[in-house]
Amino acid sequence: MNEDKRFYTFVFAPTAKSPLRKFNVHHRVIYMILGFAGVGLLTVGYGMYVIAQHAVVVAKLNLTQLENRRLREQNREATSKFDLLQTRLAALDTTQRKLAETSGVGRSADLNRVVGQGGPGSIEGGDLSSIEEVTDALESELRQIRVVYDKNQMKLASTPTGWPVRGYISDGYGSRRNPFGGGGYEMHSGLDIATNHGSSINATADGMVIFAGSHSGYGNIVVIDHGYGLTTRYAHMSSIEVTVGQHVARGKKIGAVGSTGRSTAPHCHYEVRLHDRPVDPFNYLSIGRS
Ligand SMILES: [Zn+2]
Repeated sequence: MNEDKRFYTFVFAPTAKSPLRKFNVHHRVIYMILGFAGVGLLTVGYGMYVIAQHAVVVAKLNLTQLENRRLREQNREATSKFDLLQTRLAALDTTQRKLAETSGVGRSADLNRVVGQGGPGSIEGGDLSSIEEVTDALESELRQIRVVYDKNQMKLASTPTGWPVRGYISDGYGSRRNPFGGGGYEMHSGLDIATNHGSSINATADGMVIFAGSHSGYGNIVVIDHGYGLTTRYAHMSSIEVTVGQHVARGKKIGAVGSTGRSTAPHCHYEVRLHDRPVDPFNYLSIGRS
């Protein structure tokens, strides 16, 4: 048997003057010591690695908690904004319901369906899309109301309103005794408004002049077409200040009071016709006035 006799010899002196001491250590012992040292180092290294990893995890956790808090805060804000939006939409819906009723537009928006769902504080995707849906419906409804409103505005501007000239009514609409004597009754197709010669006569609604000139008994006359089957006539003028085809707005001066045609004194004979049939202009004098 060949025993391994390799030794390492260590020589050292405790002090400078003391005699040298030496001892032998078997090489296996040295390897064992080195081996333990190596394992120790590895263990320490691994331990440090684990500690570092832990620190990273803790840091990440802290960040996540911070982010969580921020998101919770955001969520709270969004929820309260959502509630506010629902409230504002409900107010808008109420106003618009009245508008729709007044203008005869059928309701397409139904807010109750949305507000009834989920209740305040819940911010579900479904609720948000319903809010969007209702907003769209309100918008399209508002467009329809706008169309009706514009149409009404146009009709209102085209409806004879007020007096064509300042004065007093010297003769009303309807059958009357012949003012030129000779007995008998005749149909008076308009109102006679007496005033000074030369007073200005104004259009009582927006429209287009379809006649301006002299016409037998009417003398100098202007006829304005307002659309919707409505026309007005202003007769016995001393002068005419518009021409056929001209568009006039309500209040526009179209001529002056005179006594041309079949007339006994300066006055404006004012007619309103619906589908070319005379109606009582008196009913139109006070339209739009309170
Ligand atoms: Zn008359």
